[in-house]
Amino acid sequence: MTLKDTGKRNLIFAADLGGTHLRAATVDQQGRIQFRFKQNTPQVPDATAIVDAIVTAVRECEKQNDGRDEISAVSLVVPGTVKVEEGAVVTAPNLPCLDGFRLAAALTEQLHVPAFLENDANAAAVGEMWQGAAVGCKTIICVTLGTGVGGGIILDGKLWRGVDGAAAEIGHMCVDPFGGVACTCGSRGCLEVFASATAIVRMTREASPRYPDSILQGQDDRTAAMIFEAGQHGDELALEIFRRMGVYLGIGLANLINILNPEMIVLGGGVVNGWDLFAKHMHQQVEERAFPLLAARVKIVRAKCGDDAGLLGAARLALKD
Ligand SMILES: [Zn+2]
Repeated sequence: MTLKDTGKRNLIFAADLGGTHLRAATVDQQGRIQFRFKQNTPQVPDATAIVDAIVTAVRECEKQNDGRDEISAVSLVVPGTVKVEEGAVVTAPNLPCLDGFRLAAALTEQLHVPAFLENDANAAAVGEMWQGAAVGCKTIICVTLGTGVGGGIILDGKLWRGVDGAAAEIGHMCVDPFGGVACTCGSRGCLEVFASATAIVRMTREASPRYPDSILQGQDDRTAAMIFEAGQHGDELALEIFRRMGVYLGIGLANLINILNPEMIVLGGGVVNGWDLFAKHMHQQVEERAFPLLAARVKIVRAKCGDDAGLLGAARLALKD
């Protein structure tokens, strides 16, 4: 479908459908965010409630916009696997009511504009290439280090989705085959169990008996942010955990570099706040394990779009179509 030409500016309504929050924004063709909207994701086991929430968010953005511009497409960031051509969710672990649901068709029926779906990490990669750290690049890998570890791969300007739309599961690359920790995916020793926020909390708990003097002792509700802060104050336990995290991440990145020869690797997600503590160890592994030519070529950088990467990427994908 093509965008309508009515003389008004076309805006894309982009929404990030998280397990807890529905964040949305209207984005213009230059990638500028016009209006924002945020509400709790409906916690009822019913896809219709999710459709209604998105329709309400679109109406709210239209109201703020006062009819000056027109929403010409809706583009959704989904935390799970999607069939892009069919506009259907395959699986979304945090929103199981959407499994198998043709979300794009349901939205088009109510809003009378084209609707698109994209996986969250894929959308983030597109957003970073359009408006963030990877502007001007053509071949990049984006790794999102959050509660889990997500990935997006863009080859020669094209998002690589794989034959089933499930490619770039970088978090589930095995980096420790022997005695590796069990992962939610059913495998063991995945990158996610060493480099996610969840992993940092777990590794800290496991290692804490060996560090009786750590300032993290006695804290039952540790978060990755608290562990990072302890590391900034020189806490040995926290430093060891971020060292381990950096080593495993570096091994994973070296594998990716050798296979794909990217220009840039963009690291996003909350765990990247620990950059000062893990980057040295990550770079060291890349240097030791990746081919020298490829390792010298690739820039490994922090993401720039923050929480907006997915929204911007979704908008970009809708504009392209
Ligand atoms: Zn896994």
